[in-house]
Amino acid sequence: MNTETTKCLIIGSGPAGYTAAIYASRANLSPILYEGLQPGGQLTTTSEVENFPGYPDGVMGSQLMEDIRSQATRFGADLRTGYITEIDLSNRPFKAVDDNGGTIMADTVIIATGASAKYLGLPDETTYAGMGVSACATCDGFFYRGKTVAVVGGGDTACEEAYYLSGLAKQVYLIVRKPQLRASKVMQRRVIEKENITILYNTNTLGLFGQGFVEGAHLVEHVGTDKERKFDITIDGFFLAIGHKPNTELFVGQLDLDEQGYIVLPGNNQQTSVAGVFAAGDVADPKYQQAVCAAGSGCKAALDADVFLMEQE
Ligand code: NDP
Repeated sequence: MNTETTKCLIIGSGPAGYTAAIYASRANLSPILYEGLQPGGQLTTTSEVENFPGYPDGVMGSQLMEDIRSQATRFGADLRTGYITEIDLSNRPFKAVDDNGGTIMADTVIIATGASAKYLGLPDETTYAGMGVSACATCDGFFYRGKTVAVVGGGDTACEEAYYLSGLAKQVYLIVRKPQLRASKVMQRRVIEKENITILYNTNTLGLFGQGFVEGAHLVEHVGTDKERKFDITIDGFFLAIGHKPNTELFVGQLDLDEQGYIVLPGNNQQTSVAGVFAAGDVADPKYQQAVCAAGSGCKAALDADVFLMEQE
């Protein structure tokens, strides 16, 4: 297999990765970007994005990513289908291996691998995977037209997914473990006002049941109190929307990570704990996790990489 060299290897293709590619290309770093298992990242699985500046009427998430991607290719970024399977950050140039066995020696690395949906950890989530259990309403909602579904979570993702599903399904349950939603006020109002969404507060999921496909969920209300009550709901689909975990498995033991696994940025820039390695987007942002923030940090990571290389010369 070939060994290639690059001034800048970008791993990941959400708004952070593609924006880093735009800036790195324009700085003549000739970046190579690996798009990973989900080209375009999480936004390709959302519906309409209403809060990305420059789109006053909103834009579909997949279209937004296609637009940023084509902007990166316009400036000559080498965007590749595939992913990095191994990386050694102990010496510069950094050595990475891709899923075809190709080796890339990179002067700088920008990590933009994002975050993935979390599951509750119930055995039934595995039993019914692809048989009624999903972590992506916009990917799978279509299969539940006219049916009854449940969404777990009380944040913006859960409210967005419940609202989206309410346009397809007959009935949507939103299963919220606290007595209130955590989502932004505008999203809260949308789900509260929607007639076919029923919010089950103070409720946890114990398991799922059904012959082959999900047919219902075992729930418990007010767990651990004298009001505790177990009950079942009849559903055809069970959607998880309880947050995300960062995709940092490749970097464990090589970069400083926080207790949740997010990459730590010790300074006031995108530099990680290893000189020449930068991080951008949700993988290093447990707090904001917004597309526009990811794009901004991708820009900063590429500018930081450029300055780093100039300082090395
Ligand atoms: P959040 O972390 O904001 O919310 C997770 C939700 O899941 C919380 O209600 C949490 O409950 C619940 N939860 C977590 N673990 C469990 C569990 N084991 N059992 C039951 N419930 C559980 O994640 P989101 O993905 O919703 O949002 C992440 C970030 O992205 C946020 O900053 C959000 O604002 C942003 N976002 C913005 C959007 C937009 O502006 N268009 C769209 C989507 C996300 P509890 O409250 O009890 O902790």
